[in-house]
Amino acid sequence: MYPREILMVSRQHGLSTSAALAAASAVPFANAAAPRNIVISSANGLIACARAMQMLKAGHDTLDAVVAGVNLVELDPEDDSVGYGGLPNEEGVVELDACVMHGPTRRCGSVASIRGIKTPSKIAKLVMEQTHHVMLAGEGALRFAKAWGYKEEDLLTEKSRLAWLVWKQSLRDKSGHNNWTGGTGASVKKPSVALREAFPDVDEAMLGYALDRAMNPITGTINCLGLNAKGEISGVTSTSGLSWKIPGRVGDSPIIGAGLFVDQEVGGAGSTGRGEENIRIAGAHTIVENMRHGMTPKEAVLDALKRVARNYDNDPVRLAAFDIHFYALRMDGEYAGGTLWSSGKKLFAVNDGAPQSRLEPCVTLLDNRPKTN
Ligand code: ASP
Repeated sequence: MYPREILMVSRQHGLSTSAALAAASAVPFANAAAPRNIVISSANGLIACARAMQMLKAGHDTLDAVVAGVNLVELDPEDDSVGYGGLPNEEGVVELDACVMHGPTRRCGSVASIRGIKTPSKIAKLVMEQTHHVMLAGEGALRFAKAWGYKEEDLLTEKSRLAWLVWKQSLRDKSGHNNWTGGTGASVKKPSVALREAFPDVDEAMLGYALDRAMNPITGTINCLGLNAKGEISGVTSTSGLSWKIPGRVGDSPIIGAGLFVDQEVGGAGSTGRGEENIRIAGAHTIVENMRHGMTPKEAVLDALKRVARNYDNDPVRLAAFDIHFYALRMDGEYAGGTLWSSGKKLFAVNDGAPQSRLEPCVTLLDNRPKTN
């Protein structure tokens, strides 16, 4: 099955269906609307989209543009789901995952579980550009980054260290033993006096933040896709992953085909949210293939969400334990964001040329999310 647009355009231009099919099999979107400068991302990427758009307008490469945009979020200590300031693993160490894909050269690069580097997306790009490998992990990824002149730094901020200590303390009973039950930290009460004393300058708002993060371990990521008017597309995904994870846990974000996939002939897709569920359906690749076979970006992300739900027999009670989000950008500039639960993160960021980006609503699959605690 070929994209409806191809067949419609071909009829307008008086081509036979077989000629259209031949054209379509060569380049699926060759006859679709002319591409334009457009950048989309997860909702935390308003600033990333704006920066990437500035660069696209100035004629920079699409991958350089989206990586420069995402670097702003990686370096922002206030975003606790990406880069510097991201929430750490259960041992208090920040471990980052990222990957990039460059449409025009069909190349990609990735780093998993890298420590001590604020901008993992840049290292993923270096892996793509400077090696014959696709993915470097852990210690090797860090050594590679250092060889290229990157400085190893402490990625914990005062805020993320406090949240980690509150979480850690919440897991222990009075005698100091671990009492983790596998839930979401229902045992969290109040930070102890000792903890209070260790952070004398912390105000109630910051403490409230730390308690909330301890009770509700977060996920969070940035995915950013950029298309230019020449019809070139690239993408990047970067994350600190699931907070309080087991050291070494790798999510979907650095996995080409799950956290990100770009095909210069079709478009790109990416994901944020519960990575394990995305890996099980190879979400980004699934979405791009859906678009290749004629689905609109909206239909393509909804289909991916349905596959996630099907892995749980569409049981809302089990699905309520997590959320997941997809983003898709097609070569003709059409795009969509989609989210599993209508009560969750319902927006995604878009910039099609304005100095400031805007948020647009995602399509959603499920309503009435059951309470899990
Ligand atoms: N997808 C990321 C991961 O599983 C986290 C997230 O986006 O929330 O590591």
